[in-house]
Amino acid sequence: MRKLLMGMVLILALCGFALAEEGLSIVCTDFPCYDLARQVAGEEARVSMLLKPGTEAHSYDPTPADILTIGGADLFVYIGGESDAWADGILSGFDGGDAPTTLKMMDCVADPIEEEEHGHDDGPEYDEHIWTSPKNALKMVEALGEALAGIDPANGQKYRDNAAAYGAEIRAIDAEIEDIVSNAARRELVFADRFPFIYFTREYGLDYLAAFPSCTADTEPSAQTVLALIQKVAGDHIPAVYTIELSTQSIAKTVAEETGAEILTLHSMQTVSQSEFEAGATWVSIMRDNVEALRKGLN
Ligand SMILES: [Zn+2]
Repeated sequence: MRKLLMGMVLILALCGFALAEEGLSIVCTDFPCYDLARQVAGEEARVSMLLKPGTEAHSYDPTPADILTIGGADLFVYIGGESDAWADGILSGFDGGDAPTTLKMMDCVADPIEEEEHGHDDGPEYDEHIWTSPKNALKMVEALGEALAGIDPANGQKYRDNAAAYGAEIRAIDAEIEDIVSNAARRELVFADRFPFIYFTREYGLDYLAAFPSCTADTEPSAQTVLALIQKVAGDHIPAVYTIELSTQSIAKTVAEETGAEILTLHSMQTVSQSEFEAGATWVSIMRDNVEALRKGLN
């Protein structure tokens, strides 16, 4: 292992040298970091993500190639939640001089929310889906602007301008959601699925009932849970039941069949599909679709 690491350090040194001439290299773990980083970096950097489109974020393990890629980056961006906790280990393995500048998004948002149903002895676990709140996404964009300006001061104003421009789009979405919620017929969302939207619902004062807390690996809820979802939708005359991206929708179909509710998707954007990626999906484009799904479901 030591030999392998030394070999890697050598390769890293070479990579670092080769890449230095082609502008900044930004390496991100997942899609939210990736999209926000590329919007802020603009033309001045090459931005890549380790989790390829369609990859399940929660069970991802880094490859040796990922370690090299991180080591060769000028800036490494990660959430710092459960799914990319492995990055901390990799980062602590670098010697001071070899470590890339790092931006941990969990540290950029005001109040990380503790996960429910976690029986850990070693302190609280925080829900990692911070970017689902536009206000958090805004903080992440600002942090990226400052981080890039710090690494590349010559282009600092460009990064800050890019951050402000994308921030304005995010603010517009935030205002639209505020407007929808304040004029809505209801304030309750039913997720017949996993639930990566705690930051989103808390931001807008929405209530929710979900088949699973957070993004658990479970996919089979108890009969009792399904019944509770059906009773909630039927009892409160809720017009829509929500699923998330890459879902089998099996629970939602059951609830829809029993209640006549429409199935709508709120995309957490933790992972995008290959076709979404190729079509140029962004945080803003995905959230715009979410806004329409929210408008329908709250009426
Ligand atoms: Zn998740």
